[in-house]
Formats: sequence, C-alpha cells, structure tokens
Amino acid sequence: MNSAPLHHPTEDRLLAYVSGQIDFSLRLLMETHLGVCDVCANQVAEFSAPGGAALRETPKEVPIADFFDRIEAQVNGLSAAQAFKVEGTPVPLPDRIAAMLPKTSNLRWKSILKSGIRYVTLLEDKAKDAAVYIVHIKAGCGFPAHTHLGLEQAVILAGGTKDHLCTMEAGDYEENGPELTHQPTALEDEDCWLLTRLEGGDVRFGGWRGLLQKL
Ligand SMILES: [Zn+2]
Repeated sequence: MNSAPLHHPTEDRLLAYVSGQIDFSLRLLMETHLGVCDVCANQVAEFSAPGGAALRETPKEVPIADFFDRIEAQVNGLSAAQAFKVEGTPVPLPDRIAAMLPKTSNLRWKSILKSGIRYVTLLEDKAKDAAVYIVHIKAGCGFPAHTHLGLEQAVILAGGTKDHLCTMEAGDYEENGPELTHQPTALEDEDCWLLTRLEGGDVRFGGWRGLLQKL
C-alpha cells in the first residue's frame, strides 16, 4: 500500500465539494478519500478559507464548515474501521462514512458466480440514474472487459486494482468518463474492497451486461 494516495479528484471536483455542489452519493466517496489524503484536505482548506476560491464563487456560508470535525472523527482512516458489516462480513468502510449511510438492515451481498466478486448496493439515486456500491474482489480476480455508458467514480478502501490505465491502491480516487472500456483486476496479494458510484447503470458487452446493469 502506498503511504499516501497517488490518485486524486480533480480541482474542479474539490471546488464543487467545498461549494456544496455535489450530491450525497458522491460526497461519500469524496470524504472517504479526503479522510486519508492530506493533499486534497489541504486544498479543501484553502478553498474554504476566507477569500478562498469557494467563497469567491459562493459568498454565502460555506456548507462544509464542519468538515474538519467530521474528518477528525475518522482519524483512524481506512484500515482500522471494521465496525460496518454486511450480513456479518466486516467491510473496511471508515466509521464516519458508515455513519452517514441511511440505517437499514436490508443490505445484501450479490455474488457473481465463479468470478470472485461480490457487491452490495448502498444507495440508489434514481433521479440521477446513479448508485453507490461496495465491491469486494478476491485477490487476483477481476471483471471481464466492459464499457461504461456513464461516469464511474471509485475509492479503493483496501487492497488495490490494476487495469490498462493504472494501478490503484488504498485511498486512491478514480474517475472515468463515459465510453471507457477496461478490465480491472484485484492485485495478487490482497483482496480488494472499493466504494464506487456509477451513473448510467448499463455497461456494454455480452454475458456481463445483465450483471453489471444491476451494479
Ligand atoms: Zn487526494
């Protein structure tokens, strides 16, 4: 695992976050990354400061005034958080992020037969055709190649993935636009857990289409 994330949200995303212009589902991912990324947390602080970019754009109260209180509450970061469970399985979701989720006992794993991959739907935003999932990929296992029709954003909670573009490790934030085709695989030495938000629901390609539509 890298000592600090190497892949970050864009500056525009951070500014949108500070300005309160992102939806709750994306906030979950952003704050998961911000909780372990000093680079982005400092950028957020700069945007939020008097005279900062966010204040120049939005002269009203900055909506994330409690940002540092909230981040401080997850100081233990990604690795120590084990309280959140889905059907008895601990998920390395930071406590603070888990606490933001609606309380429900209806979370259920869905498996992808013989693939080493399972996932759970955390949230659905039908108005935006978006949803947030936790995905668990066993070490060395991976998705078949597929093409996203909408935006894909993800934060690695533990372990890592690789595809033809890059290797992602714990804390890294990834954003891919529509039309990306890739084949992410978990790194060989550790199971991968990731928090991902997909728009557009559907992906292209044969036998996996129905499955990934559910994702
Ligand atoms: Zn960052």
